[in-house]
Amino acid sequence: MGDRELNLLLAVAEVGKLPQSKVTALSRFYETEPVGPVTQDNFFNAVLRLTTSLAASDLLAALQSIETSRFKRTRDIAWGPRRMDLDLLLYGDIICTDAALTLPHPRLHERRFVLQPLADIAPNLRHPALQRTITELLTALPATERVTPVKES
Ligand code: ADP
Ligand code: MG
Repeated sequence: MGDRELNLLLAVAEVGKLPQSKVTALSRFYETEPVGPVTQDNFFNAVLRLTTSLAASDLLAALQSIETSRFKRTRDIAWGPRRMDLDLLLYGDIICTDAALTLPHPRLHERRFVLQPLADIAPNLRHPALQRTITELLTALPATERVTPVKES
């Protein structure tokens, strides 16, 4: 919600301020038709790479605290509009099935709005559980939601 491009830029800046961490790659910004039952505006999506010595669980807690403190996120409508959603897609080659932190993100491989920006920065990265590269996963997707770069130039 709100100024979606500005919110993404602000989120990148906040993630860049995390301790023991450095943003080392950033995808283009994409506009995506919403998935799911709630009628709402298009989403903006992006993927960044963070080099960090924070543990995965501490990193997720830090991302959630950015959602709530910087973006005043509340969790009322599932799948509904929100100012910011910060998800952890991959953490090295770690595979983890905890409900509180599933790695790789359990829906990464079926979401064009994740795979497309991820392919900008890591096309040859191999999904540690599925053993397919990001490009391969993207190519294998059935026709789904449209995901278009916010600026073509
Ligand atoms: P969503 O991201 O699916 O729209 P939320 O941001 O509300 O929904 O997250 C719901 C829960 O998913 C969080 O409480 C979090 O603990 C859990 N979760 C599990 N794995 C991950 C992950 N890889 N990244 C982000 N959240 C995750
Ligand atoms: Mg989330």
